[in-house]
Amino acid sequence: MDEENYHPALSEAPHVFCGRCGTIAGPSAPPTWMCAVEGGGRHYFCENCARAHIRAIESRLDPASW
Ligand SMILES: [Zn+2]
Repeated sequence: MDEENYHPALSEAPHVFCGRCGTIAGPSAPPTWMCAVEGGGRHYFCENCARAHIRAIESRLDPASW
């Protein structure tokens, strides 16, 4: 549990930002964020937008299609 050994990523690291509202998370996405792979690229969604996004995904998934 040596959290003091944590080294922040260098400025070269791409910053993760919400693909929906544009909130910048930093060099890496928090565990509460959602990552979606679409069109060969990664898209992140913040906690609030992930909730809305999941709802949209679930609404598209018809239980009858399983
Ligand atoms: Zn967002």
